[in-house]
Amino acid sequence: MPHKTQLYHDVPSTCWPIVYSPEYNITFMGLEKLHPFDAGKWGKVINFLKEEKLIADDTIVVAQEATDEDLLVVHTRRYLNKLKWSFVVATITEIPPVLFLPNFLVQRKVLKPLRTQTGGTIMAGKLAMDRGWAINVGGGFHHCSSDKGGGFCAYADITLTIKFLFERVEGVSKATIIDLDAHQGNGHERDFMHDNRVYIMDVYNRYIYPGDEFAKCAIKRRIELDWGTEDKEYLQKVETHVEGALNEVRPDIIIYNAGTDVLDGDPLGGLAISPQGIIKRDEIVFSTARKREIPILMVTSGGYQKRTARIIADSILNLHNLGFIDEKLSTSSVENPKVELMITECISDLTALSL
Ligand SMILES: [Zn+2]
Repeated sequence: MPHKTQLYHDVPSTCWPIVYSPEYNITFMGLEKLHPFDAGKWGKVINFLKEEKLIADDTIVVAQEATDEDLLVVHTRRYLNKLKWSFVVATITEIPPVLFLPNFLVQRKVLKPLRTQTGGTIMAGKLAMDRGWAINVGGGFHHCSSDKGGGFCAYADITLTIKFLFERVEGVSKATIIDLDAHQGNGHERDFMHDNRVYIMDVYNRYIYPGDEFAKCAIKRRIELDWGTEDKEYLQKVETHVEGALNEVRPDIIIYNAGTDVLDGDPLGGLAISPQGIIKRDEIVFSTARKREIPILMVTSGGYQKRTARIIADSILNLHNLGFIDEKLSTSSVENPKVELMITECISDLTALSL
């Protein structure tokens, strides 16, 4: 019997399957400024979406913090205990001063936001099955596996979400992870190494962190990119391989790790994708999933520049304008010929802009 969890409660049909909590944002005496991470990115995305009147406070789903019991579905007790040491958390989050904080503050100011984002991804997994799509405005901690964190990732939210679905939602026995963050997703790869129910596609810069050769064995479709890869090559590869992956195996759900650290100028990603390129990339993934009527869950993962939040919000607005995401329960809008026409027009606009 699965344990009792608060994360799978019913959500009113008036809410969009967009999950967020103000708790996501890390703020503590300027500590967050010491990491090359815009630690308020998640709140800014929500503010942009509110300004554009896509959502309001009462039409989004408020994420709840994952409890120890929830986390133990994947994590070992040994690993969770290690997080009670500030130096371990300082290493995982790459914020060295965390080392000097008493652990109760580390728990409250650093780990709680990450646990709330993790709860958000798990909640969004169920919502994606109910509604056809869902977006967690945070999450995407793809470097963390059941017994090891790293690269700012302290909890394995993608693994947890898939295991929750396998255990609790009837009809979910196959999942595909499409990981388009600039880094290799070694956390979920290690967790699903010998699990044939999970198909992993990973597109990343081959020269940067983590270079985890062992984890690469779990990737079914591996696309390694060179420094400075630009829109044309990138989008062609994404389109070909998303189609290819879904032709190879038809999953019951897609987990889309939509990292924006592929953006030109990102100090960590080392790629050169334009803002329009990222918007187009998300569109390719959503249009492919929605046309095939496969539920899709998007998490935002890495992406560290000041302009990142605006790009994520613009991408979500674009998905809405094209009819790929809406508040309705059905997936029928993608069959609408008017929408098809808009898609074609938009593709030609974007081609002119960015290719
Ligand atoms: Zn990344």
